[in-house]
Amino acid sequence: MLVVMDPRSTTEHLDHVVKLLRRMGADSFVLDSAHQKIVEVLPGNGEINRAALESAPMIDRVLDRVEPLLAANRQPGDQTIAVPLGTSGSVGGRKLGIIAGPCSVESESQLLEIAAAVKEAGAVALRGGAFKPRTSPYAFQGHGERGLEMLARAREETGLAIVTEVMRCEHVELVARYADVLQVGSRSMHNTHLLAAVGQQSKPVLLKRGWCGTLEEFLLAAEYIMAGGNRQVILCERGIRTHETYVRNTLSLAIVPEIKRLSTLPIIVDPSHGTGRRHLVAPMSNAAVACGADGLLIEAHPDPSRAWSDGHQSLDLEQFHELMKGLRPFAEACGREV
Ligand code: PEP
Ligand code: MN
Repeated sequence: MLVVMDPRSTTEHLDHVVKLLRRMGADSFVLDSAHQKIVEVLPGNGEINRAALESAPMIDRVLDRVEPLLAANRQPGDQTIAVPLGTSGSVGGRKLGIIAGPCSVESESQLLEIAAAVKEAGAVALRGGAFKPRTSPYAFQGHGERGLEMLARAREETGLAIVTEVMRCEHVELVARYADVLQVGSRSMHNTHLLAAVGQQSKPVLLKRGWCGTLEEFLLAAEYIMAGGNRQVILCERGIRTHETYVRNTLSLAIVPEIKRLSTLPIIVDPSHGTGRRHLVAPMSNAAVACGADGLLIEAHPDPSRAWSDGHQSLDLEQFHELMKGLRPFAEACGREV
């Protein structure tokens, strides 16, 4: 257990916590640095009264975890960091970072049509998979480097930043050459080698939550990236697997304010994978913005019925335009801009 002190706390406040713990029969280890004051509870024979600890003066929070979140730990008064999306915008500031595009890059004409439409509707970045993580080995796996070239062409035409997935360590350098933001997909959140590899290059990383990942595992995956020296991480909630079947995944929106409380990293929401149902994408986008999300990742396609992957959850271009219009009042009510 860790007792994280308010940064304004003094040596007297720390001493008070140490004595309180001693009365509960526990020892303590005190970290008192310029940046952080933390008391680790070293278990003894007594019972720890957590409520008494939490109500002591100048306590920020009491954590059960053994491994502290070092890099993106939010202290009172900290702002969410803004992570750039190429030169076209950012995620984490007042303006929402809206990233939209097809699940898979299919052809140059498809991509250019989508890019122009989502830009017109207010998106700041284009998403599209050139390397696709598919459930079946017999399903389209992506165009690979040819897909990356098509994405680069769409950036040239529209100025939109490019967000695309990297699945293998040996592709990190290749994908980073074309992309503005490297996406680490849900299936890869537990791949610590890939996390370390994207942490050692300088492009921002969009880290999706593993569908079985807890909040703590999600944040520690981000720590892996930041431990390599790359602090430009955007978190993305994309739903988790539960017993529920009316949706593809259960979109766990409570994680948005919880991440905001614990971390300075921006968090966006993917309501496309988060629901797997087209008609749920707009309402869950509104809900995501209402609970504090810094942006959205949305699948859009000119003709979803003919999409090569994830058509059932993709919006057509008109529906995407409508979604963006409908989002404005929610954004304004939360002091954000679309
Ligand atoms: C995607 O964004 O197309 C994708 C494969 O998402 P996820 O990793 O969340 O399944
Ligand atoms: Mn998809």
